Amino acid sequence: MERVDEKLPQEELEKIWKEVLSEIELEVSKPAFKTWFTNTTLVAKKNEKLIIGVPSNFVKEWLKKRFSNIILKHLRKFFSDIKTLDYTVISKPTTIETITKDQIQFSTKLEIFQIDPKTNLNKKYKFSNFVVGPNNEIAFAASQSVVQMLGKKYNPLFIYGGVGLGKTHLLQAIGNEIVEKYKNINVKYLTCDKFVSDLVNYIKNQQLEEFKIKFKSVDVLLIDDIHFLSQKERAQIELFHIFNFLYEREKQIVFSSDRPPSLINDIEERLRSRFSGGLIVDIEPPDYETRVAILKMKMAEKNGNLPDKILSIIAEKVQKNVRELEGVLTKALIYYSKKQNLTSEDLEKILKDYYQDSYRLVTPTRIINIISSFYEINSKYLLEPTRKKEYVKPRQILMYLLRELTNLSYPTIGEKVGGRDHTTVMYAYEKIKKEIQKNQDLAKEIEILKERILSS
Ligand code: ADP
Ligand code: MG
Repeated sequence: MERVDEKLPQEELEKIWKEVLSEIELEVSKPAFKTWFTNTTLVAKKNEKLIIGVPSNFVKEWLKKRFSNIILKHLRKFFSDIKTLDYTVISKPTTIETITKDQIQFSTKLEIFQIDPKTNLNKKYKFSNFVVGPNNEIAFAASQSVVQMLGKKYNPLFIYGGVGLGKTHLLQAIGNEIVEKYKNINVKYLTCDKFVSDLVNYIKNQQLEEFKIKFKSVDVLLIDDIHFLSQKERAQIELFHIFNFLYEREKQIVFSSDRPPSLINDIEERLRSRFSGGLIVDIEPPDYETRVAILKMKMAEKNGNLPDKILSIIAEKVQKNVRELEGVLTKALIYYSKKQNLTSEDLEKILKDYYQDSYRLVTPTRIINIISSFYEINSKYLLEPTRKKEYVKPRQILMYLLRELTNLSYPTIGEKVGGRDHTTVMYAYEKIKKEIQKNQDLAKEIEILKERILSS
């Protein structure tokens, strides 16, 4: 026989849920608790069912799959007749609220700049100070799964995304979490550049065997910016063997890259297929809410105190890159602590300064070098008059980017690019501009080039 819904007062539900959460908190890891239980509520009781409010579908699925038993267990202490749970998404921009007070306190206590020489890990990168938004929640969840199921689930995990979007942060957080969770485990984080230069040194000193042994003894290998392996043939061969050795022994491997494996140029096919053999996840630029949440997190870490209004303006203006978000915030904080005030005009100025600083680095030489290495063309051919087809397109892209990223005039650009007429430059600029609209691959290519040029 069905019973009538119990009308429990809101405060009662709140109180119960709070107690339940404090129990659960003791049973699950800190980051898991924060990720999955922040902004959850007990909404109502209907007969033998309890309804739990959650901030997103994503959280709903995870709670349902992974945490239903534990939630039920604790709720039964209050409602012995409970049989099932139902989850309902209560949508509001929760990402901002996820920066709870205790998380802020926790972040400020983080030891900054502490790199462990054995693992190369910096303790400041944690899951708990990584702000999760729609742009990175899959990558975040996958990273957490990797820690839970080392070598067994997603192997390798391949995380890709643009500059300054948190790839290094996630890789290091995986490493730090593993070190904390599993005792006596050999974790090794390094950048691809370091891998290549180490290899060169070991070969030079005739110690290749030592190099191999060093890598074969790791339990978890985290290699950052793996796209730099392009064209490094010897390093590709060694990595391939190390990969196979570790993979066969179910050792966890994680890579990051600025692009998916399919777009890494000049890399052995067998290695590409290894990269793609596990799980590939991407990180997109954060949306507005996530940017605000990141600013709040960073501000807490720096013990800063800017009004919300200022944070909203920064989040509106700086859209693509979390590192830039942080850079602008730092400047604003310094300014604010000096003047105890910050008007929107001040902020405009800070933003302008910030961008001028980064644009100052963008010289024509820098653009030429980056394009010639990207397309593997000697810069001589990029500038010479030759009409060979393989040089024409990179040269047009060069003119396009010179126009986009510097304030040089068409005639000056013409001079820089091997003494070409300004009409040639204009033609190239318009042509590439039009083509980007139609050709997604080209658009992506140019985006990658821009990021490389603009990141110092
Ligand atoms: P990438 O390796 O993708 O270029 P990083 O991991 O170095 O980017 O991130 C740049 C900066 O932005 C770091 O200080 C990092 O902590 C911060 N950051 C990026 N994404 C997030 C995020 N989701 N939450 C908190 N901080 C972030
Ligand atoms: Mg990085």
